[in-house]
Amino acid sequence: MNQSAFALGALAGVIGVAAVIATTLLLLELRRKRGRLSQEDATYKAAFDQWPTTAMVLDSDTLRIIAANPSAQRSLGYSLEELRNCSFGGLFKAEGLDSQALLEKLRTAPPRTYIEMRQLCRDGSQRNVEAVCYPVSLDKRPALAVAVHDVTVRRKVESQLLEKQQELETLAHHDQLTGLPNRLYLAAHLPQAIEEAKAAGRSLAVLFLDLDRFKHVNDSRGHETGDKLLKTVAQRIRSTMRTQDVVVRMGGDEFVVIMKDVQGSVQVGEAAARINHALGAPMVVDGRTIVTTVSIGVARYPDDGADMGELLRHSDTAMYQAKDRGRNNFQHFSPQMDRRLKERIAVESSLRTALESRQLDVHYQPIVDIESHQVVALEALLRWKHPSHGYVRPERFVRVAEEAGLIMPIGEFVMQRAVADVVRWRQQGARIVPVAINVSAVQLQRSNLAESISRLTKEHGLEPSMLQIELTESAVFERREERARAASQDAVAKLRELGVHIAIDDFGTGYSSLSYLKRWRVDTLKIDRSFVRDLVTDMSDLAIVSAIIAMAKHLHIEVVAEGIEGWQQLEKLRSLGCSYAQGYLIARPASATDCERYLSGEPLDLTQRLPVLDKLETTGTGEQLVLRA
Ligand code: C2E
Ligand code: MG
Ligand code: MG
Repeated sequence: MNQSAFALGALAGVIGVAAVIATTLLLLELRRKRGRLSQEDATYKAAFDQWPTTAMVLDSDTLRIIAANPSAQRSLGYSLEELRNCSFGGLFKAEGLDSQALLEKLRTAPPRTYIEMRQLCRDGSQRNVEAVCYPVSLDKRPALAVAVHDVTVRRKVESQLLEKQQELETLAHHDQLTGLPNRLYLAAHLPQAIEEAKAAGRSLAVLFLDLDRFKHVNDSRGHETGDKLLKTVAQRIRSTMRTQDVVVRMGGDEFVVIMKDVQGSVQVGEAAARINHALGAPMVVDGRTIVTTVSIGVARYPDDGADMGELLRHSDTAMYQAKDRGRNNFQHFSPQMDRRLKERIAVESSLRTALESRQLDVHYQPIVDIESHQVVALEALLRWKHPSHGYVRPERFVRVAEEAGLIMPIGEFVMQRAVADVVRWRQQGARIVPVAINVSAVQLQRSNLAESISRLTKEHGLEPSMLQIELTESAVFERREERARAASQDAVAKLRELGVHIAIDDFGTGYSSLSYLKRWRVDTLKIDRSFVRDLVTDMSDLAIVSAIIAMAKHLHIEVVAEGIEGWQQLEKLRSLGCSYAQGYLIARPASATDCERYLSGEPLDLTQRLPVLDKLETTGTGEQLVLRA
């Protein structure tokens, strides 16, 4: 291999064929001048001349162009002679570098380094190019072989791609419906905001917003209206916040606001109150007025959480607290809330297991005629026999069951069990009495109770009048939405048509309205035990109880007094004209088997009973209070 071929091979490995072409071009030039162009060299020359991209050789000291292939001449618009009178720095510019600095860079750049430049063509046009160069030695004279690639098209495509990518990123980080940043954006932005707050020693607040009963709007007015409402909500939230605050739509009816650089809880509270106020104003969607409120939970960095996960979790917890406190308000996070939430989650998950693994049971408590002591009804009371915590009382879990959507299957279970027990008692020859079943508002509105009772009783050959339904006054009458109230009233009317009696439970604790009682045509009022407890000693309780009894009489509604624990209470109620009584003094709730003794048709012998002093007394009938979840 001769010297030129050796140089060719060595260079090929380092800077690529294009640069080699340039070098070889120079060798060929020199040899041609000396009249020593061999056949082999002529072949190389043909290849170089036809090479499709720019190749040049520069004087290392001056950057003057010594040689340039036809591609270079075509691309730049100059002849070889003209190019030889040009300096490389006059034809190529690298951003931020003058000719001298460019020369330096070309000389010192390690092999395979691409240098980005603008190529200035004779016709005034400019091209984006990339150059790679390699130092060569020609007759002991240092030179630079340079290969130049036109990357104009590539750059254009790249910048289009970048634009597309940014567009995609904007799309991915923003919610299409409202245009607000979304969950992904929050995940990218919040940790950074926390870091900034940390570095600056400042505080920030995370507000977790959840619309109240949005699902109802969606269900009743349709998704399109729901979407429009969400848009308006988004605008209202955005307009109440400062420009530096970030409003994010998390999905559905959930929003998160990040308030940066906050001074204290008062400032955050004021902002939350502003949101409550702004959303509380009626909105007109599709020509109809909708009022939607929002529950807000607040957690602050660093007091309530050190990172994104903690702040979101705690603001969410506080939001649930706001829901519990009647919705349409805001709550600041406190560690006690977290404990309650954990407990709630624990209850929810073990309640699901309870349903599946038959840990639920129904006990019954007699209701007696206050004069004759005859059992007139049994109230079915749900019991949860927890494998490790013993009996868990309904107060502990009915609400969780409602929120977790478990109240339907649980309600169904109670109903089926009650019907099965009554049928069994009857088969055993007992003198059966109606069974009162507690039904929560959700159950009343969502399930077709009348239909399922009709089906169930028919299946078992039982008269529907052997069932009574107990509804709490607060759950039914206090519902603010007209639709929910109408649904309840409709369900009650259907039940009455079927012959099922309706009792208002815990009467006196909620929204007692005579007009409702009349309109709903309830059969029974059950005076809440909180009035019965101090009836003998508290004059105002006495006044309330006598007023309820008098009013009920006037409306031809039966009255049951709940929670009677002492003889004096019983006597007082009897003297006030109360017809029926229920309470530990008469009988504690007991299992279906234990209750058989109440169904003999004989009056209960209360003379054997002692006043109930110890409410925590364990009777083995499921009355043990277990408050741990
Ligand atoms: P409620 O319907 O007012 O039931 C009466 C509650 O008072 C029962 O509590 C009963 O054990 C208790 N009680 C009865 N006599 C006395 C007494 O003399 N002194 C005291 N201190 N308490 C007495 P329980 O079984 O814990 O039920 C609590 C509430 O849970 C019920 O109140 C009812 O609202 C709800 N509940 C019970 N079973 C069900 C059910 O199957 N479905 C639904 N949705 N709720 C239920
Ligand atoms: Mg009840
Ligand atoms: Mg009650």
